[in-house]
Amino acid sequence: MEITQALHRAAQQTPDLPATIVGERVRTWTECRDRVARLAAALQELGVGAGDRVAMLSLNSDRFHEYLFAVPWAGGVVTPVNIRWSPAEIAFSLEDAGAAVLVVDDAFVPAVPAILEAAPVVRTVVYAGDGAVPDGMVGFEELVAGHEPVDDARRGGAEPYGIYYTGGTTGTPKGVVLSHANLLSSALGSTAAGSFMTPGGRYLHAAPMFHLADGAAWGARNVVGGTHVIVPMFTPAGVAAAIAEHEVTDVLLVPTMIQMLVDAPEAADADLTSLRHLLYGASPISEAVLERAAKRLPAAEFTQAYGMTELSPVATLLQPADHAVDHLRRSAGRAAPHAEVKIVDEEDREVPYGTVGEIVSRGPHVMLGYWNRPEETATALRGGWMHTGDGGRMDEQGYVYVVDRIKDMIVSGGENVYSVEVENALAKHPDVASCAVIGVPDDEWGERVHAVVVPAAGATPSADELREHVKGLIAGYKAPRSVEFRDALPISGAGKILKRDLRAEHWSGSDRAVS
Ligand code: ATP
Ligand code: MG
Repeated sequence: MEITQALHRAAQQTPDLPATIVGERVRTWTECRDRVARLAAALQELGVGAGDRVAMLSLNSDRFHEYLFAVPWAGGVVTPVNIRWSPAEIAFSLEDAGAAVLVVDDAFVPAVPAILEAAPVVRTVVYAGDGAVPDGMVGFEELVAGHEPVDDARRGGAEPYGIYYTGGTTGTPKGVVLSHANLLSSALGSTAAGSFMTPGGRYLHAAPMFHLADGAAWGARNVVGGTHVIVPMFTPAGVAAAIAEHEVTDVLLVPTMIQMLVDAPEAADADLTSLRHLLYGASPISEAVLERAAKRLPAAEFTQAYGMTELSPVATLLQPADHAVDHLRRSAGRAAPHAEVKIVDEEDREVPYGTVGEIVSRGPHVMLGYWNRPEETATALRGGWMHTGDGGRMDEQGYVYVVDRIKDMIVSGGENVYSVEVENALAKHPDVASCAVIGVPDDEWGERVHAVVVPAAGATPSADELREHVKGLIAGYKAPRSVEFRDALPISGAGKILKRDLRAEHWSGSDRAVS
């Protein structure tokens, strides 16, 4: 079982169907397979052999899609690089992964000299842009045109497919080694219920392709069959226009993107009625944003996925029908068909239903391990279960409620406060566009609940007003004792709010150690 199977199948069953659409550029599955087999030959000539890492630093593109197939076709291992990292962080990951070949697009050509200086491991830079090939690089298109197709190396099963770096939301990103079987189990399990991808439909890559949230949707689209519509990066107007123009049927968006898409005036007029499935996840979503999204996208069914890079990445799914049940909308759903999920205490004992503990998961989707980090791998996978670091509880029907990252929980005056619960309450105020709640040092309370709020356009809410609003919804001790207003929140490359950056401003420049 290998990732490239889907490409062989698509070329056999839907040879003339577009595999990729980027603006005016359309390539069929037959062309895609041919280009992949030629690129794989070129990669082998560049020295890529069994298990060798090939990195890609690029905005979303059809060449990214071809890279994701060509590297395993050549026998190698994909290593997508986070496009929001600094050159030093990029160099760290290239050295960490030991990637001798790096593929870049136009957006990253200017950064290449600094990257090469800091990452001597890189021997070849492949230019996957649309202009003339820069000096010292080899052209992606030239490689494709200049090589005859080779046979698929057919490495699959438990062999590594890729090294995917975690989001870096809580600390330095870790390289997660995922096998072909890991990713395929998650893709097959996630699509088994039929609520995730429209068969033969069009999936829009609006989230960054380097991140496994989109990577998993890429895999799911391939196993179901259909077309990849690709925009270089998320912008509300660009995504709305692509959905309307290319009759996109499915999209994965993280909550910050959903909020921008439904609130942006420049995306307000686009016809989004082709959309059948919206998959969301990767971070908590406020009910207020979910409601606005349901109004804006009346033809779409909503599915929520919860998981993490280490789980390939899907562990639970909240199905469209579950969204109709009021209390379930706060849940992240139930174990996906491929996964087992339970809640444990600090001694790894399963806790009773309704009790908060750590969410753990077991099954064919659990990573092979962290790259070059045997101790962290052993800790995370102790007892054969992946320990997520997320706090959650489960009801008697198996619905999981993610309460907070354990590292984001606030202990104020001896009471546990889940930052997500406070954010949810705040977000229900009409003057709040987005917000983050963190614990900051407090002499009296140990930690104090502090809110950072981005007001809605034109609104000027007061701290007192917001505090009273929260107290009307949840227990008073959870209401923010202090509120600060900003124009924007720090966001990671994967679109998540970086609370550790907000915290660092209050905790003497270093993130606090709370476990
Ligand atoms: P790092 O591990 O480097 O700090 P990260 O945890 O953000 O970064 P990912 O693997 O991309 O890296 O994200 C997984 C995390 O995202 C989960 O552990 C969880 O905290 C959060 N998450 C994912 N899906 C959901 C969801 N549906 N609801 C709430 N939180 C979610
Ligand atoms: Mg994580």
